[in-house]
Amino acid sequence: MSTRIACIAANWKMYKTVDEAVEFVKRLTEKIDTLEDREVVIAPPFTALYPLKDLVSPSWLSLSAQNCFWEEKGAYTGEISPVMLKDVGCSYTIVGHSERRQYFGEKNEDINKKLKALIKVGIRPIFCVGERLEEREAGKTFEVIKSQIDGGLDGLDSVDVAKVVIAYEPVWAIGTGKTASPQQAQEVHAFIREHLAMLTNKSVANEIRILYGGSVKPNNADSLMSENDIDGALVGGASLEVDSFLRIVRFEA
Ligand code: PEP
Repeated sequence: MSTRIACIAANWKMYKTVDEAVEFVKRLTEKIDTLEDREVVIAPPFTALYPLKDLVSPSWLSLSAQNCFWEEKGAYTGEISPVMLKDVGCSYTIVGHSERRQYFGEKNEDINKKLKALIKVGIRPIFCVGERLEEREAGKTFEVIKSQIDGGLDGLDSVDVAKVVIAYEPVWAIGTGKTASPQQAQEVHAFIREHLAMLTNKSVANEIRILYGGSVKPNNADSLMSENDIDGALVGGASLEVDSFLRIVRFEA
């Protein structure tokens, strides 16, 4: 039997000042007493990580960065290393988000180096994969996902792969209001799990959490989360308001 604990992660992208981030987390922790069967992850902009460090003290709440560089330190102007993220209290870091791939030219090889660097310091990567609309329409969804996973996890052994959280985020569903149907998402999640079993083994694949991301909203979270292989959500737009995020956190599957 699997012991996968659902994970609802808020990706705030380039939104919220320090004050706004602090206010959000204070309100969220006032509204949630405790959560037994799920965890919540907040990924604010870099500037708000340190101010949130002490506010994410409840056991169900964790802090994540949205990106990192793979080197530990050095002359890399503008970059932030996994060691620095650990220092400000991050237990997770999003890697390979489609916006990073699209606007900043991130390649599978870069993402692979980031995953390795994060695992080395004990931060769990939230590793994003997902096909673009034209790839889905050309029947290439599985091929694209497979090559992103193979590239991202290249050289990691089963013990390290087990530390990764995968986020399946079809690019055509991110910020568009077009959600993958629960069946469309489940089909890809099941494919990812099968592929992970081939790369590692069945028991590791069975423990890895695979989140769905792409226009998750209060009104579709329950049905998405009811699917067997959907273990949580990576939420963009709907994570910016406490009430809508809270409704997603309180999904009923
Ligand atoms: C995201 O940015 O990871 C995301 C899924 O955004 P949205 O929920 O707004 O589609």
